[in-house]
Amino acid sequence: MAFISNKKEIKETKIITWEEMLLDAEKKNITLMPFDIYAYVNTFDNIEIIDDDLGLEISGMIEYASGGFVITINKYHSYERRRFTLAHEFGHYCMHREYLINNKSIKDVALFRSENTKDKKEFEANEFAAKLLMPKDDFLDVIKSGKTKLGDIAEHFGVSATAAKYRAYKLGLIKEY
Ligand SMILES: [Zn+2]
Repeated sequence: MAFISNKKEIKETKIITWEEMLLDAEKKNITLMPFDIYAYVNTFDNIEIIDDDLGLEISGMIEYASGGFVITINKYHSYERRRFTLAHEFGHYCMHREYLINNKSIKDVALFRSENTKDKKEFEANEFAAKLLMPKDDFLDVIKSGKTKLGDIAEHFGVSATAAKYRAYKLGLIKEY
């Protein structure tokens, strides 16, 4: 594994937005719809992804060690949930790298619990994951095309119905979440 050994180098890595990320993914020939988050994150040399037993409560975690980052995803969760968790942890990698380097890790319980979203970093990582896996224009297009059931929308984007509901709520399409 080609972990970057120089701390300074990591801090200076350009943090890209999810919009830039989709363009970057396109250049790397990553499937965009549904977004192949596993393949995309695997293109980063300083991130290792592990699907592992994290017990019932933990969805995923990201740790900083030896100059690189290890993202662990709960292997017992559905593929759809794991995809969102990975996008969320990847959001921490992109936006909270400094925090991770100083504090070593972030552990995530169920991602949509209200107490989590009160934490600014957790809110940001959820937003990042939702936007990356369910871009606004695509989300609206799917609805325009006649798919209005949450289950069908979720299937289109390869996410859980809970994640699709969260996105619909954030886009102002439904009043309650
Ligand atoms: Zn988190």
